[in-house]
Amino acid sequence: MATKKVKEQTREILKDVFGYDTFREPQENVICTLLDGKDAFVLMPTGGGKSLCYQIPAIMREGTGIVVSPLISLMKDQVDALIRCGVRAAYYNSSLKAAAAKEVLDQFEAGELDLLYVAPERLLTKVFLKRLERIKIGLFAIDEAHCVSQWGHDFRPEYVRLGELREIMPNIPMIALTATADEHTREDIAERLGLKRAKRYVSSFDRPNIRYLVSEKRQPLTQVLTFLEDWKGSSGIIYCLSRKRVEDMAVNLQRHGVRAAAYHAGMPARQREKVQDDFLRDRVNVIVATIAFGMGVDKPNVRFVIHHDLPKSIESYYQETGRAGRDGMESEALMLYGSGDVNLVRRLIENVENPDQRRVEVHKLNSMVALSEALTCRRRVLLGYFGEEMKGTACGNCDICLDPPETYDGSNIARMAVECVKELSGDYGVGYVVDVLRGSKNVRICEKGHDKAKSHGTGVDINGDEWTSILRQLVHRGIFVQDISRRAALVATKKAELLLEGGSVTLAKYQPGIKRKLKRFTQGKDKKLYQKLVEMREKLAEDEDVAPYALLSDVALTEMSQLTDVSESALQNISGMGQHKLEAYGEIFLGTLKEHADVRGQAGGKDASGAPKLMAKGSPANDAQMHTWGLYKKGADATEIAAQLGTVEKSVYNHYIALVRAGYHIDVPAVIGEEFDEVMAELDDADPYASLTEVKRDLSVDLTNEFFRLILAWREAIGVA
Ligand code: ADP
Ligand code: ZN
Repeated sequence: MATKKVKEQTREILKDVFGYDTFREPQENVICTLLDGKDAFVLMPTGGGKSLCYQIPAIMREGTGIVVSPLISLMKDQVDALIRCGVRAAYYNSSLKAAAAKEVLDQFEAGELDLLYVAPERLLTKVFLKRLERIKIGLFAIDEAHCVSQWGHDFRPEYVRLGELREIMPNIPMIALTATADEHTREDIAERLGLKRAKRYVSSFDRPNIRYLVSEKRQPLTQVLTFLEDWKGSSGIIYCLSRKRVEDMAVNLQRHGVRAAAYHAGMPARQREKVQDDFLRDRVNVIVATIAFGMGVDKPNVRFVIHHDLPKSIESYYQETGRAGRDGMESEALMLYGSGDVNLVRRLIENVENPDQRRVEVHKLNSMVALSEALTCRRRVLLGYFGEEMKGTACGNCDICLDPPETYDGSNIARMAVECVKELSGDYGVGYVVDVLRGSKNVRICEKGHDKAKSHGTGVDINGDEWTSILRQLVHRGIFVQDISRRAALVATKKAELLLEGGSVTLAKYQPGIKRKLKRFTQGKDKKLYQKLVEMREKLAEDEDVAPYALLSDVALTEMSQLTDVSESALQNISGMGQHKLEAYGEIFLGTLKEHADVRGQAGGKDASGAPKLMAKGSPANDAQMHTWGLYKKGADATEIAAQLGTVEKSVYNHYIALVRAGYHIDVPAVIGEEFDEVMAELDDADPYASLTEVKRDLSVDLTNEFFRLILAWREAIGVA
């Protein structure tokens, strides 16, 4: 057992090296298990903090900790980040040139490394294993352990042999870590790695900092652009179903000034690598990708993930949305849900040849549809799917909880459904049950004799879509379960019996196609200062040739931007500011903070120009434009301004456009006049993939070019375009 003294030491390392005050569950226990020389199997969601579980014991134990990780591209970033914390770490994989590789191996043999990251195929070579015999090894950590299982989502053949390690070196503690939420895969991993008897640590798979949002898909491009307004300059991923959609979306975003790039398996490897690297280094903000993108993108500050198209299972959805917010900061997962997509995915599944596999995939898709159409807390449905019950009924951080649909006492209706399902002996799926309830006399029902059932037609007053929604809700509430092995047949549970005995259930009112408007995050930070800090970090990272997040996290920058007292001791309390980083970067950041505090002090907290700003963007206005702005503020109209400036009205309108873009408030609706609302409405409905010329041509109002551009500038400024 780890003594009190040892525990104290672990906490000291947590603070001094990594700059964190407290352990998260179950980090401390895992660390103690390894320090005791025992094995551990850690199941923790993405962003849970798995790395520290092996990094701290590797630092504390005698010898080097060997970390096996599948992704060569990630090793460098992980090692860079450790070195910046003052940890003696290195990596050994095929990307190293001979001389560099030799240097690493020399360090390793000389016992100068706390951590060595190794690619599995390197580790398992005869030569390397031989080498291991001579060197003191502190522990083995198998990261992304699901890669060993064919059941998992990312099987890697080179992982299979890792099971041998347990036999070759039975006395060195081993830890396997994964974020897989699926029970089947977990058992397989434990089996294959010889970790059946390892101490198991399972934490909740909830990701409370991710806000789940689902919107009906209407005009995807407009919806995406509107969403991006709130995340300007932040990193995010947009998933699309096909390469074609990926490319179209990327081009459209670039046209709208978003730093976006496409990524899919059809691109040359070199280009894909570049895109990924640009994303990690914050040179590109938004990646538009097929599901080929993501594995191994351990970028901690991905602020949003958008599903432009329906994922084909909840597993994929969870995994893809899980790439947001690893650093624990507020993040959003938006899914655009369109019934057309459901049919598309269904058709893809119909092509699957193996009938068993097809059935499983159909069920998975149906569960995904149910999540998208859920009228109860999304998080509850999501966690429930993985067999985890959420505490409380509402998470408070999904679209349903933030803007709850109306509810009613559905006990009687639910009893009707339970009676019907029981009468059908739990043998039929949602569609069939609905048909029976609605009194359908279709061939199948008559053949089975269910037109004579007592429940036949009891629910005729409620339409089919609404019944489907009710049955789905009853599944979410645990009144029915769906049996995958029998075509997702509905089966009544114990809860159903309780209901029949007089229990009650509240249902959400069925409202097809409701558009939700949500209050967005209000982050209590000084945006200007935050931006300065981001730029400073970028510059330093560029100088040192590392990813910005390996230098300091977004959490650290946010905390800095919120400091009221700017001092070195305050900096010490910033999350992630260990001793090493404080020495290396403390002064530089302190300088930026002080400078900003001084400027703000002089301006008396006001914006110096005094102009009412919508938002700061674009290039600042030039002299002529400022002249126009001065006259406009005094109440002059375009004709008067043109006369004063000795120019034509057209030029004045061009000034207006530049001013709006630069963030000055020109009352565009008033300038355009009565046609404004109509044009705005038509633009809302415009085909998102049409070119601007086409959009303008299709308007019912004949606008001048200047007016058209002015409206576009306005839309962008208020965040609807
Ligand atoms: P995982 O590998 O489980 O996805 P990481 O180990 O990358 O997660 O950790 C996710 C983030 O949480 C990182 O930014 C990490 O520095 C941070 N983190 C981990 N443990 C702690 C802790 N005890 N306190 C504060 N931040 C932590
Ligand atoms: Zn919720």
